[in-house]
Amino acid sequence: MSETKQLNIQMVDLKTQYEKLQPEIDAAVLEVLRSCAYINGPKVRDFQAHMERYLDVKRVIPCANGTDALQIALMATDMQPGDEVIVPAFTYVSTAEVIALLGFRPVMVDVDPDTFNVTADIIEAAMTPKTKGVVPVNLFGQSCDMEPIMAVAEKHGLWVIEDNAQAIGADYTFADGHSQKTGTIGHIGCTSFYPSKNLGAYGDGGAIYTNDEELGERLHKIANHGQTKRYYHGMVGVNSRLDSVQAAILDIKLAKLDEYAAARRKAADYYDEAFAEVAALKTPARDPKSSHVFHQYTLQVLDGSRDRLQEHLNTAGIPSMIYYPVPLYKQEAYKTAMANEITELPVTEELCQRVISLPMHTELNEAMLEHITQTVKSFFA
Ligand SMILES: *Cc1c(COP(=O)(O)O)cnc(C)c1O
Repeated sequence: MSETKQLNIQMVDLKTQYEKLQPEIDAAVLEVLRSCAYINGPKVRDFQAHMERYLDVKRVIPCANGTDALQIALMATDMQPGDEVIVPAFTYVSTAEVIALLGFRPVMVDVDPDTFNVTADIIEAAMTPKTKGVVPVNLFGQSCDMEPIMAVAEKHGLWVIEDNAQAIGADYTFADGHSQKTGTIGHIGCTSFYPSKNLGAYGDGGAIYTNDEELGERLHKIANHGQTKRYYHGMVGVNSRLDSVQAAILDIKLAKLDEYAAARRKAADYYDEAFAEVAALKTPARDPKSSHVFHQYTLQVLDGSRDRLQEHLNTAGIPSMIYYPVPLYKQEAYKTAMANEITELPVTEELCQRVISLPMHTELNEAMLEHITQTVKSFFA
C-alpha cells in the first residue's frame, strides 16, 4: 500500500498533465476572460479550423458535449420517427439514448469479441426494411472496420454516424493503402471533449464533423437553434455550443494529441508484454487496419475471476474500472425503446463479465506500470 501511495496511481491523471501545460493554458484562459468573447469568440473559430486541418475534414462543428453531437447528427439526417438505427449493445449509454430520444428505434447488436466493435456482417444480419441508419462506435480507441461497413451502408442506403468519442486521432487504413482519421469515414462523425477523453476539455465539449458541405451547413444550423439568419429559424434546432474558454484549452491540447496517443500506446505496449504469459488474461486485440489510441486499456479475464482481481487491485490501492458492466438492452430504459427483442447477445454478455480496464493516461511512468503489472500478475501466480 505504501508503495502504491507514493506512486499515486490514478485511473486518469489530469492534474499532472495540466501542470505541464499550466503557463500556456492559464494565459489562454485569462486572454478569453479579458476579451469577454465568451461565446462564439475567435478561440472557437481557431480551434475549429485547427481541428479541420488535423482531421483533414471539410467541416467541424463544435458543440456542447458528445451526446449533443450524436443527437444533432441524427437530426441532420432524413430519418423519421419509427425508423430503425443499428447500435452496439456494448457501449456507453449516449449512443442509444439519442436514438430513442428522437423517436427512432435502436436495434441493439453484438460486437466482435476481439476488437469490441461492430462489424459489417453483424450490421447486415440485423437489417430489416425499416433500418435507416447505423451508429458504429470506435470503442476504447480503435476504429471499427469501416471499409466493409461503408460498403454495406451503401448497398442498403444507410446513414453512418460514427461515435468517435473514444478514438479521436486514430487512423484507419483502407485496402488501397490510403488512411483517414476515425470519424471522417462515415457520413457524420461525433466526438466528446469530456475531461477524461483523449482530447479532454476542462468542462464539457463536443464536435461533429463531415466531408459533406451541405450536411455541414445543416449540422451547423441545427446546433444553432435551426437559425438560417439571425432571428430567422428554418427548422427546429437545439442550443449546443462549445464555449471560448474550452476552445482555448482544447486548441493547446490538440497540438499535443499525437504525442499523448504515443504515450498511451507506450503504456499499452508495456501492459501487453507483461501480460503475454498470463494464461487467464486476454490483452486487447489490435486491428492492423487501425492505429489504437487507447482511450482504455481493457483486459478480458478468462477464468471467471474478474471481480476478485478487481478486489485484489482495490486492496493494493490500484484503481480499475468495468466498462461496461451491463448490456444496454438490460437497462430498464431501453427495454421498451428497442426495435428488436433480445434475451441475450452472447459476446456482449460475456464481455460484461470479463472486462476490466486498467489505469490509462498520458502520465504513466515505468515505475507505475511495473507496480500495476506486478500486482496483477501476483493475483494469478
Ligand atoms: C463519452 C462518450 C459519449 C458522450 O460524451 P459526453 O461528452 O459525455 O456527452 C458518447 N459515446 C461514447 C462512446 C462515449 O465514450
